[in-house]
Amino acid sequence: MIAKVIVDIPTMQTNRSFDYLIPESLNNIIQIGVRVEVPFGRRKIQGFVDEIVEDTTFDGDLKPISNVIDIEPVLNTEMLKLSKWIADKTYSFRISSLQTMLPSVMRAKYHQIAVALDESTKKDNLFQNGQVEISSNLSKDELLRVKRYKSNGQVDIIYSVENQAKKKTISVIKNSKSTDELIEIKKGMTRKKSQLKVIDYFIEHIDSVISINELTKLLNVTRTVVTATIKNGIFEQKELEQYRTPKNFFNEKVNKTYSLTEEQNKAVNQITNSIDNKKNDIFLIEGVTGSGKTEVYLNSIQNALEKGKTALMLVPEISLTPQMVERVSQRFQDKVAVLHSGLSKGERYDEWRRIERNEAQVVVGARSAVFAPLENLGVIIIDEEHESSYKQEENPRYHARDVAIWRGEYNKCPIVLGSATPSLESRARAQKNVYKLIKMKHRVNNNQLPPVEIVDMRDAKNASESGDLSVKLISALNETLQNGNQAVLLLNKRGYSSFLLCRECGYVFKCPNCDVSLTVHKDKNILKCHYCGFESSIPKYCANCNSERLRSHGTGTQKVQEQLNKLFPETGVLRMDVDTTSKKGSHSKILNEFANKKAQILLGTQMIAKGLDFPDVTLVGVINADTTLAISDFRASEKTFQLLTQVSGRAGRADKSGQVIVQTYNPEHYAIRLAAKHDYEEFYRHEMFIRHRSDYSPFYYSTLITITHQYENQSLKKAYEIKKYFSDKLDENVIILGPTPAIISRLKNRYYYQITLKYKNKLQVHKMLTALLNETQKDISEGFRISIDNEPQ
Ligand code: ADP
Ligand code: ZN
Ligand code: ZN
Repeated sequence: MIAKVIVDIPTMQTNRSFDYLIPESLNNIIQIGVRVEVPFGRRKIQGFVDEIVEDTTFDGDLKPISNVIDIEPVLNTEMLKLSKWIADKTYSFRISSLQTMLPSVMRAKYHQIAVALDESTKKDNLFQNGQVEISSNLSKDELLRVKRYKSNGQVDIIYSVENQAKKKTISVIKNSKSTDELIEIKKGMTRKKSQLKVIDYFIEHIDSVISINELTKLLNVTRTVVTATIKNGIFEQKELEQYRTPKNFFNEKVNKTYSLTEEQNKAVNQITNSIDNKKNDIFLIEGVTGSGKTEVYLNSIQNALEKGKTALMLVPEISLTPQMVERVSQRFQDKVAVLHSGLSKGERYDEWRRIERNEAQVVVGARSAVFAPLENLGVIIIDEEHESSYKQEENPRYHARDVAIWRGEYNKCPIVLGSATPSLESRARAQKNVYKLIKMKHRVNNNQLPPVEIVDMRDAKNASESGDLSVKLISALNETLQNGNQAVLLLNKRGYSSFLLCRECGYVFKCPNCDVSLTVHKDKNILKCHYCGFESSIPKYCANCNSERLRSHGTGTQKVQEQLNKLFPETGVLRMDVDTTSKKGSHSKILNEFANKKAQILLGTQMIAKGLDFPDVTLVGVINADTTLAISDFRASEKTFQLLTQVSGRAGRADKSGQVIVQTYNPEHYAIRLAAKHDYEEFYRHEMFIRHRSDYSPFYYSTLITITHQYENQSLKKAYEIKKYFSDKLDENVIILGPTPAIISRLKNRYYYQITLKYKNKLQVHKMLTALLNETQKDISEGFRISIDNEPQ
């Protein structure tokens, strides 16, 4: 038989598979979906078995597969098929989509194993089960011994691919004798008192399987005593796989169920109907913040489970939405597996295996959880479907929403997209009845959405002495604190201030590797590049004119925290941004402190905008609504509207009513005005009009091609070549923009140029982009990196 293998060739990627013979020795072991090791040129490389066939079209001698890495397939038929689709859709290679689907620990390394060939060699205590790994653990003597065996033909050296994914096991002790047998044994060993304790334990717990550690503690005996009973053949020892189950973010275990509101009921019924009838519907829930969308998700999942099916739920980023995970875990307990970047690689691998073995039926996770190997999917839910984090920004550049929809078709199950502010693309599809629109217009508690007040920061009378906080916001904070309530403040800019400027000559301190100004971080007394991580101490003199008159401009979370501490010295202020949350578990620590009211003010970047549900938060303040508005992106208005709506939704979620204050220099901008009115529908209409007028998504497809090189002229030259390639062949209906320098034209000492294609005819462009992908492979060796980003975010 012949295996078609997708190989991992780092230097020259390709989408074709290579044919290899399945050697007799691996017959019946090699299956579709296992990883193998194959000879390629003079090296051995890893690959995935994609197909097994009887014939080859290759004339020449086929090489045999050297080794098999997996005893069981790591990817099922669905995943293999999906990987093909992803490679095609995202202009990447099969191998990278296959690898993306597996937990990162399963990326393998090579090692060698010496296998003893005869009985006498096996007796050498170097070998265990007739094998020894040749590694740095062996002494020189031992290595020489292996070498001698090898030259005498007593061992065979095989290359094996090391699985980084070590399973964690525990040693357990187990009994397979009957009570009578144990009593009999006990009679024969009256003198070994402490071993008798072990026997007594099993007489009382005949079916017990208990870890050796636990048993020694329980019986208060030494480990030797327990292992002696095993050595004497009374009991057996086994290694059981132990999962590193990730800890929950909050510990409280209360299982609330509600009787659903009318809107919730309607939504659940529609979704359940699709689950029951195996209909591949796509629902878009447009539900205001606090309308109880989560409860709809949970009930839909429940219904899928009751039908014996599984459920997948995606959330933007778990560390930012711990309460969501908590609610799912509370409801479905040990049926839930959680997948996200906050887990250690080992924990992630364990969760993945629990899913693979059908031990978990509900998966909650961020973007890559969309590849969870759940079988028999009943429903897929994507919360906050508009979030750009669902799009992967590196190869393969897939969008989790698209992948979910593919899986929905494959599994014949419904997809539920939920958001208070759906993406324009999704909302437009619902308009055309491609998606089924479910509107949830009312908050569960029947409270009004909180009133939003816009403060015009251009107006001098609104300014206060402390600079970044207006008089209005300060007095609202005062009132909130006096009433014993809490406030959430959003400032989408971390650090102390945005840049350091010389007041003598106007020089701005910039990153030496990137074309961006350095951010001042006062707590560590450094200047920092947020793109490449460059750091330097804050200089005393201007690098251009040597003047001492340096001043930091702009504001950041650190500066505002300082201001808040001065204004409200009695009040705890928690800060949540990339700098305070770099350590594992720090998100939930901060949120826990806020939940326990150790602090009354939570200040943070957009990580505080999502999903938080604290009953005592009555005030939300947006310190500068203009930060997202200013980004150079056709989605800037949409992102601003979404962020403002999300963060406003944090106020007045329980019995208390809330209030929102938005500070801005653009009070008339429609994104800010309409967010203040909670008018998504009007925003949608207005934004669609603008997108239509300027030929952007969802009216046009778009693809971004980025060309980078260490030398600017090279980068630019290649960009023009690529432009020519398109303009020669594509018809005039395709809009080709650029080449232009990317927004950040230099990053980590590479120059970035970009070309944007906008088009309506997918087919023609798709063919040319696929050809470009293959064509530009050879440019990699000349130092180019060329990326094709389908529907860039
Ligand atoms: P959303 O996700 O739409 O913002 P949530 O699902 O978080 O809204 O619900 C908001 C709050 O209302 C939560 O505290 C939730 O526990 C509560 N809640 C949800 N559904 C009900 C219900 N049917 N009855 C009472 N409270 C509910
Ligand atoms: Zn200067
Ligand atoms: Zn930099």
